[in-house]
Amino acid sequence: MKNIILLFALAVVVIFGITTYRKSKQEKPLVIIMMGAPGAGKGTQCVELSKSLNLPHISTGDLLRENIRNKTELGNIAKESIDKGLLVPDKIVIDMLFNHINSKAYDKIGYILDGFPRTINQAVTLDQRLGKKYKKIAINLNISEDQLIERITGRLMCKECGTPYHKVSLPPKEEGKCDKCGGELYQRKDDTEEVFKSRLEVYNKDTKPLLEFYENKKELYNIDSNVDKKVVFENIVKTVDKVIK
Ligand code: ADP
Repeated sequence: MKNIILLFALAVVVIFGITTYRKSKQEKPLVIIMMGAPGAGKGTQCVELSKSLNLPHISTGDLLRENIRNKTELGNIAKESIDKGLLVPDKIVIDMLFNHINSKAYDKIGYILDGFPRTINQAVTLDQRLGKKYKKIAINLNISEDQLIERITGRLMCKECGTPYHKVSLPPKEEGKCDKCGGELYQRKDDTEEVFKSRLEVYNKDTKPLLEFYENKKELYNIDSNVDKKVVFENIVKTVDKVIK
């Protein structure tokens, strides 16, 4: 009788353990960090991924540009750095991003980060915020430097909703108009060849070391981004599926 009770107790403990483990695995919200040089296709891929995974897409570049459009104090400070192709100071970007996440209650569902983190300090701060409560993966879009310049200088963006287009590879249905919201398309001031060079320098110096940072934590997945954007997207989805299963 004593053995039966013991066996029963053991079975209860095992079943409880498995259920809790499964729950904890399933219920962890997913945070995807989309990485890559300027022009690697982060924005385009994030828009699609956001629809397919039903996760909010947060672009720090878009948030900063929104502040510039609305002429906020933050926007005025950020504009100076952005127009020169330099990074906006960490504290400003971190506060802006975390306030945005809090105000939308995205912490509960997870999100896709586009353009953040861009420095080791930002990455460490993000890790502190996420702790162990999230499933986190970093996806790096690998692309050759000569493809970047062509992509960047042909890039157009919607003034209203931030959707990216390209004069040759992703033109809007109607010239100068966003397919999604009808907003006016424009070329970003920092998408000229000259400013792009300094953005690339900043990327190589401050952001590229993050690849090693995530690699060491076994959270980095590299995706070839020199190919058609549909193929890139399929490979991203396959990678995410593999990691979260
Ligand atoms: P891209 O990925 O094409 O370079 P983004 O829209 O992500 O463009 O960013 C545009 C600019 O906004 C950057 O060059 C930088 O000045 C600023 N910015 C965006 N995100 C950050 C960040 N996490 N830290 C510092 N500056 C940022």
